[in-house]
Amino acid sequence: MKNTETKKTQRSQTHHRQTIKSLATHLWPEHRMDLKVRVVLAVASLALAKVVNIFVPFLYKRSVDALSITDAVVLPLGLVIAYGGARVLHQFFNEFRDFIFAKVGQHAQRTIALNTFKHLHALSLRFHLDRQTGGLSRVIARGTAGVQFVLSFVLFNIIPTLVEILMVTIVLLIHFNALFAFVTFITIISYIAFTLLITEWRMKFRQNMNEADSEANSKAIDSLLNYETVKYFGNENHEYHRFDQALAGYEASAIKSQTSLSALNIGQGSIIAIGLAIVMAMAGAGVISGKLTLGDFILVNTFLIQLYLPLNFLGYVYREIKRSLIDMDKMFGLLDVESEIKESANALPLVIGKGDIEFNHVSFGYIHGREVLKDISFRVPAGKTVAIVGPSGSGKSTISKLLYRFYDAESGAVRINGQDIRDITLASLRAEIGIVPQDTVLFNDTIEYNIRYGFTEATRDDILRAANLAKIDELVQSLPQGYQTEVGERGLKLSGGEKQRVAIARMTLKDPGILLFDEATSALDSHTEKEIQASLRQVAQGKTSIIIAHRLSTIVDADQILVLEEGKIVESGRHAELLSLSGVYAALWRKQQEGAETLATA
Ligand code: ATP
Repeated sequence: MKNTETKKTQRSQTHHRQTIKSLATHLWPEHRMDLKVRVVLAVASLALAKVVNIFVPFLYKRSVDALSITDAVVLPLGLVIAYGGARVLHQFFNEFRDFIFAKVGQHAQRTIALNTFKHLHALSLRFHLDRQTGGLSRVIARGTAGVQFVLSFVLFNIIPTLVEILMVTIVLLIHFNALFAFVTFITIISYIAFTLLITEWRMKFRQNMNEADSEANSKAIDSLLNYETVKYFGNENHEYHRFDQALAGYEASAIKSQTSLSALNIGQGSIIAIGLAIVMAMAGAGVISGKLTLGDFILVNTFLIQLYLPLNFLGYVYREIKRSLIDMDKMFGLLDVESEIKESANALPLVIGKGDIEFNHVSFGYIHGREVLKDISFRVPAGKTVAIVGPSGSGKSTISKLLYRFYDAESGAVRINGQDIRDITLASLRAEIGIVPQDTVLFNDTIEYNIRYGFTEATRDDILRAANLAKIDELVQSLPQGYQTEVGERGLKLSGGEKQRVAIARMTLKDPGILLFDEATSALDSHTEKEIQASLRQVAQGKTSIIIAHRLSTIVDADQILVLEEGKIVESGRHAELLSLSGVYAALWRKQQEGAETLATA
């Protein structure tokens, strides 16, 4: 048990070290001389502020001494002015430091957030299906906030405070004696040790709080995304209960965190008060015995209070830095996750040629031990159309996911124009394949934005042409805001058929060499379906296409039809050939024809 704990601590220390290392590179960014100059200036003004700060109590002491001489008649105006000036100067250097450093901190924050975002997009579909998107974006938000905090506070608070403690101890040693220096030093060391110890103990409450917060948030997002499902089943109370349970977890750990914070504050206050009392008693005795002046009594007091202020801050800073480090570890941890789908080092751009596709003895399963595709082989000759049919769950969409390289085949190979898709660059592969997916999800923006997504440089005319082809133009024109109509989150304000037509429009804009329709017209009524089929035929002319379909009537003129059952191709051929086989396809066809007739009669 203890061993596990030690290992855990070691692991988190290694993580912290790596995190700080990654951060340091952003603090001293390569090829950014301007930012490096800013760092140097900020450190210089910090040093100046600290030096000025050491002078302030001395000016104060000398003013008091000048006034406490029994026959003092002249106001030590010079000293008083110098005292005021030093205080202003101290603040000026501090502000100048923040002003000059702001750009360095913000730049680091921006670069890190962007790199993490890029990396998330580079990770595989499997990674994203396993995570909750809300959780991921919070990890980035918290991580980047942590970066800013650690950058400014490690550099401008922790290190300078330690230097200041050392400087004050030396000053006390020179100006008073070893005992003064010793008591001050011990007070501060005890304060720091106590703070670190209690803060370590409190960390778990903080962590629990963060976890409970994330959980409550993902539950709320998930529940609201499923708004309609919740209503279908009248499960509002169930949702309230689930959310409240997560909130209760947060409540409990937040209370523990607050209570332990009070204990920490009381302890810190007591240590400082005791130290202060001892030093003042010692100085007081010195004044009585005539060895020290009244100014000295005030000097030790001022020094300690001056140290105590940033130290009081140190407790908070330490807590926040620890928290930020945990958040940053999580964010940088994401950067360490390797993508399952990697481009090989010598990947070449795809030479699409005429777009011939080949699946050669491909086997694949999403989870270990359950094969979804079992030794599949087929070819889609260049410019031809192959349809894939079969019962739900037989692996049809999986074929499209392998072709797009969301996953890699476990054995066998997928080739386009003779090139194994594992040997070509992902960007060139994906640029040549256009997909109209089973469930179209749209961006929470306008219809125009969503269509333009197929080719961001498209002109307005291109968009209108694509919309016309996808038979959505008329509908959009009838909307009060036309192409500027907002589609809502995930496109929920459009019907399934409308979303599919937007998806078709943006695919035609992309104009790829290979087309993949995954039940692209399943959400349409048969009239619109026929119209779109005609458009799709026009778009697909001369291109290699794979059509995944449930309704067999839509694929009767495909060049080849593959019948998939439990991950195996059980029949293949043209429509007429398959009918004459009187097998699975023929039975499926009869069933659908009967269904259609019954519907027509009804
Ligand atoms: P449908 O006609 O219903 O769309 P399909 O033939 O397209 O079905 P696939 O989507 O290819 O079927 O799924 C094949 C099998 O793989 C199913 O049993 C499904 O549950 C499983 N599956 C699909 N995606 C995943 C995933 N990401 N993780 C685990 N299993 C998955």
